[in-house]
Amino acid sequence: MTFLPADIKSFSETVQQLWQRMNPCTLCPRRCKVDRSNGQTGFCGIGDMPLVSSVGPHFGEESVLVGHGGSGTIFFAGCNLGCVFCQNFDISHHRRGRQVTIEELAQSMLELQDYGCVNINFVTPMHVIGAIVAAIELARKSGLTLATVYNSGGYDLVETLQLLEGYIDIYMPDMKYSDPTVAKELSAAPDYPEVNFAAVKEMHRQVGDLQAENGLATRGLLIRHLVLPNGLAGSVKIIDFLAEQISPKTVINVMDQYRPCYKAFSHPQINRRPNLQEIDSVRQYVLQKGLNVLV
Ligand code: SF4
Repeated sequence: MTFLPADIKSFSETVQQLWQRMNPCTLCPRRCKVDRSNGQTGFCGIGDMPLVSSVGPHFGEESVLVGHGGSGTIFFAGCNLGCVFCQNFDISHHRRGRQVTIEELAQSMLELQDYGCVNINFVTPMHVIGAIVAAIELARKSGLTLATVYNSGGYDLVETLQLLEGYIDIYMPDMKYSDPTVAKELSAAPDYPEVNFAAVKEMHRQVGDLQAENGLATRGLLIRHLVLPNGLAGSVKIIDFLAEQISPKTVINVMDQYRPCYKAFSHPQINRRPNLQEIDSVRQYVLQKGLNVLV
């Protein structure tokens, strides 16, 4: 039987189940089985309480998440992926951030709402999802009404996602690769395609296609797909999967901003930006399959 801290016992059964999944940790597909409440850390490098690197309105997200007030973004340090081209490597790999309590996290959500943000956007949430869900419970009791956004690299475990039903309104996962060899070399996650496809299915089961009111997303699934040079993202398989196994109404943001950084310079195949033809061919294929391209 897992020991639960006294303050966690005052939260819902869902929070307690998430905490149990962290000791030993099987929250994410890495299944490191370390005891995080006793100070051990696994691949993500984070203990049982989150490190937050920044909190604030963000205007660089997709337009359906921004509105006039911005997306109320909370960036968590640490990550369960090891992407060699990570643009936020100081946060994800060097874990720059400040440890916060559940109460502080809930207070941040309420402050973002008071500021006028249009949603609460959790960036890289899976490895600290127990604290996030506990904080959502506290914040909702104190008046939080904004939609919640689960903004992840897409390496998310179905069994953990199943516990998030009712807590997350908008899922925004990456779909990075469809080839296990590429996923192994670039993110140290050879099972990424299999895990990612299963996660996207579960996310869509919970929230369905993306819905919006007055131009702002209220609920649903929004896919991010970053075009890599030399076809390394395996875009065709990902788009086929979305069109045939998720929904022909899937909304996808085909992202063109890849540029080499962090350790990408030592991987010759990703040591350049994708060219216009590579980006356009992915967008054309999305349109050909009838999906919705977000602009
Ligand atoms: S959340 Fe972190 S410690 Fe837990 S299984 Fe994933 S990488 Fe390992």
